[in-house]
Amino acid sequence: MARQTAPVCKLCRRQGEKLFLKGERCFTPKCPIESRNYPPGMHGKKSQFRRKASDYALQLKEKQKARWTYGVLERQFRRYFKEAEKRTGVTGLALLRMLETRLDNVVYRLGFASSRSQARQLVNHGHILVNGQRADIPSYSVKPGDEISVREPSQGNTYFQAVAKTLGEQPIPSWLQMEDKSFKAKVTSLPSREELGVPLQEQLIVEYYSR
Ligand code: SF4
Repeated sequence: MARQTAPVCKLCRRQGEKLFLKGERCFTPKCPIESRNYPPGMHGKKSQFRRKASDYALQLKEKQKARWTYGVLERQFRRYFKEAEKRTGVTGLALLRMLETRLDNVVYRLGFASSRSQARQLVNHGHILVNGQRADIPSYSVKPGDEISVREPSQGNTYFQAVAKTLGEQPIPSWLQMEDKSFKAKVTSLPSREELGVPLQEQLIVEYYSR
């Protein structure tokens, strides 16, 4: 399955902000944004003093930020946008909801993984169940009423035993409900704009694709 393979810290440096793509390392002084917050490459340092970015550059930057944050490739992201356009309501919000309700993102939000890429791996390796059935497609879209859990045999492995010690310490979005710090959770509703918790300006993404 195709996935993003670029060195992820370079993506943050290109954006000039933390995208939190590397789990715990993002919260330590080892994060390159702390020491080298300028674009990567030979002329990276100089390029930050270039003149004001055009509207197109800002739109492109925002689209890339959303894509990199959720680990989605360009073709798939475009498909999400086309699907969002068909939905009733605001296109930008529909797009963000589709990204947020991806199974790998939900696994990350529940604290079962420290990054979305790690969550994606857990899903790919078949550790995650949706309504009691194995779900190994990271882009699977969860719906209100779905139950997300970790397979019981997997709960006994070293990785999940370590995760169990810190489960529930990280705040969980209100559209997800965890069963008493266990590896079981329920999707109670679709996330509202306020609950999305990603600093994205979706209007710029809509403008990018509407050119
Ligand atoms: Fe981005 Fe995390 Fe790398 Fe820092 S450590 S640059 S936040 S991916």
